[in-house]
Amino acid sequence: MTDAGGLAIGVDVGGTKVAGMVVDPGGAILDRRHVETPAADAEGVVRTVVAVARDLLADHPEVSVVGVGAAGLVDRDGVMRFAPNIAWREYPLRERVARGVGLPTLVDNDANVAAWGEFRFGAGKGSVDMLLVTVGTGIGGGIVTGGRLFRGAHGFAAEIGHVIVEPDGPRCGCGNRGCFEQVASGRAVGRLGVLAGRDHPEALLVRLAGGDPERIEGPMVTEAAKQGDPVATHVLAEVGRRLGEGIAGLVNVLDPDVVVVGGGVIEAGDLLLEPARRAFEGAVEAPDHRPRVPLLAAALGNDAGGIGAADLARLELGGSGA
Ligand SMILES: [Zn+2]
Repeated sequence: MTDAGGLAIGVDVGGTKVAGMVVDPGGAILDRRHVETPAADAEGVVRTVVAVARDLLADHPEVSVVGVGAAGLVDRDGVMRFAPNIAWREYPLRERVARGVGLPTLVDNDANVAAWGEFRFGAGKGSVDMLLVTVGTGIGGGIVTGGRLFRGAHGFAAEIGHVIVEPDGPRCGCGNRGCFEQVASGRAVGRLGVLAGRDHPEALLVRLAGGDPERIEGPMVTEAAKQGDPVATHVLAEVGRRLGEGIAGLVNVLDPDVVVVGGGVIEAGDLLLEPARRAFEGAVEAPDHRPRVPLLAAALGNDAGGIGAADLARLELGGSGA
């Protein structure tokens, strides 16, 4: 299990950065690279992914496979059918990276690979059926069932951010109104923060925005709440409630043994998670007649995607095997 052939490169492609890492079979990161990218330049992002992987490979020639995680609909052949942040449409991402790096390559959705990372080495370790909910600007999801990543018929499963939970609610980037990610993500924290700031111009939250409630953004809400601002705390509690209600619906469908909550908004910690847990307990079907399903904060932070992508590539494309 620890032979050199077990090393894999994992690459996490974000909207503005590419993070690459060399990961061993135990999930430890042995080396890493981090490069900012111009998100609009679809070809440039691929060149950056290839350059990051080749740079790591030059220093670790024993690496045998590459795994890539990127936001969007990735089919089972590694074709990026649709990416929300980068201009990739029906784009043969796996083939391009494999050809550029010269190694067998796996490409999957960013939340899927993050779920796999948390399942294998993070907050979901020891579980069998795990749901990951990533709460960042939007909401992503990853599902592990029976110890395997659940991809659906086409590879598009677990796009939980686009379940409509509030008909006629805020417009979503997908074209619908009232998607889960519009009411329970970082974007929702920012939007509700602006509304709360207008009603409470005296709040610390407004001071953090330079006195202008229209300039309030999600991270300011978290910062103000951590400093005890009741207005900001209330915003996080409201978003946490919506998050917990949404998770309850997903738990009714999937029946996981654990739910892991990750993404940037987790910076808020229990200010978000405690209201989410309360709402979850209140909304899940028959809570008194089922084992408790813990809602845990993710453990691997921004590294979950790269670690999970590397591990999935190692397990699914060979290397030293599981
Ligand atoms: Zn949507």
